[in-house]
Amino acid sequence: MRFHKAEAAFFVFSALIFMVALAIFYGWSLLEGLADDLYMPGRVETLGSLQTLLLTTAAILTGTLVFGLLFIFPEIRTQVREGGKLREMTASLSARSRNLERAALTDGLTGMQNRRYFDDALKEYLGEFRRIDRPVGLMILDLDHFKRVNDTYGHDVGDEVLRSVAKCLKNMTRYHDVVARLGGEEFAIVAPNMDLELLKRFADRMRKAIAMLPIDAGSTQLNVTSSVGLALWDREETAEEFYRRADKQLYEAKRMGRNRVCA
Ligand code: GH3
Ligand code: MG
Ligand code: MG
Repeated sequence: MRFHKAEAAFFVFSALIFMVALAIFYGWSLLEGLADDLYMPGRVETLGSLQTLLLTTAAILTGTLVFGLLFIFPEIRTQVREGGKLREMTASLSARSRNLERAALTDGLTGMQNRRYFDDALKEYLGEFRRIDRPVGLMILDLDHFKRVNDTYGHDVGDEVLRSVAKCLKNMTRYHDVVARLGGEEFAIVAPNMDLELLKRFADRMRKAIAMLPIDAGSTQLNVTSSVGLALWDREETAEEFYRRADKQLYEAKRMGRNRVCA
């Protein structure tokens, strides 16, 4: 049985009272012995009063002890138990709200960050990078003819494609890049610290890696291609304007025949 600090303190307090009561009782018995030896008329009464005083004090202390054990201790115990339960409840509630928060920012299918996270992260990055003179790149990647994949191989295979692409993107990006699934078969990457040439090469490596991904579709294997729109932040535009510019490039890549990077 484990005791809480308040309970242990109560035991120490009770033990001290008990010891004081014992000491007083011992004093009383000493006086009892002395009373006969020191027979002095007139003094005996005082001695008797002193004894009564000691005995009364010992009785009060014993009463206090009994009262404490019967009434105060159970009260402390209940409070400690309720306090513990409350702490447990608060802990589980805050764990749950942390999970909810995480779920609200995570895409259920791929486990990557979702659109909401991306929107906030892009704004935050631009805010940070406004102060330091370093480039920020944005790429939006959309799978080509994905509807056909679903129609031909089924929705489950489509989901498998999305998971594989997500894994590939996560493996190819650096730890400070923001990688998110914006919805459907569209992904976005915020890549800081790369100039346009580096960014284009990075995007093209990504495009090629996705095209090479072997995706298992039951009896056959399929491959998917992707189109990428790229933009480098001009340091003036807002997150929305920046995003729109990259999206326009994606549209351009689709228009020019897909499976390519446009910047
Ligand atoms: P484009 O090359 O022009 O991008 O053509 P597309 O077929 O890829 O684009 P479209 O917007 O016509 O179709 C996107 C498809 O993505 C339609 C929808 O059924 C599918 N899709 C969206 N979300 C999911 C998902 O979570 N799982 C699966 N399996 N399919 C999805
Ligand atoms: Mg598409
Ligand atoms: Mg799309």
